[in-house]
Amino acid sequence: MNDIKLALLGSEGAGKSAVLVRFLTKRFIGEYASNANSLYHKRLSIDGRQLNLEVFDPCSQSGESRCILEEPVDWADGFVVVYTISDRTSFLNAKNILAQIKESRRETCKGEVPICLVGNKQDLCHSRQVSEVEGRSLAQENKCLFQEVSAAENYLEISNLFTKLIRHVMEQ
Ligand code: GDP
Repeated sequence: MNDIKLALLGSEGAGKSAVLVRFLTKRFIGEYASNANSLYHKRLSIDGRQLNLEVFDPCSQSGESRCILEEPVDWADGFVVVYTISDRTSFLNAKNILAQIKESRRETCKGEVPICLVGNKQDLCHSRQVSEVEGRSLAQENKCLFQEVSAAENYLEISNLFTKLIRHVMEQ
């Protein structure tokens, strides 16, 4: 059994818990009240390999709180960095988080750090503040996977992005 550890990072309210709960349960929980760090476990099989997935969902990360990032950044094998397409501040925060991950992992990781940048709340595209092109270019600059999703409306894209990220971790 392989153990894979992922951490979700992003602004408070970006939809980290909603994305994770959608992946774990296939359901959208509109108001997911959590004021504590949470660690979720899931057994899954990818490409015929049995995996024991652990996902860390910290209760909150405001951009300035670098110390909150340190624990998951040291612990995780891969990262899901979430912003909201209708909130430019969350996108700028995601940019800072990517820089912090790269900085902290520079000396310990020989290959690329497996990261998926996720633009959530695609269903709110009428109030979009971050274009898909901007999201994709930030991901390319940081050599990350990229996916726009709606935790509120879709399961498949979210499931696919976790699968791709886990494959990337397994290749490391
Ligand atoms: P977190 O603080 O990053 O974990 O964010 P939450 O998962 O708690 O979500 C914050 C708010 O955004 C909640 O009110 C969710 O219902 C809402 N939300 C999350 N994902 C989506 C989405 O894809 N679309 C819409 N419209 N709302 C969402």
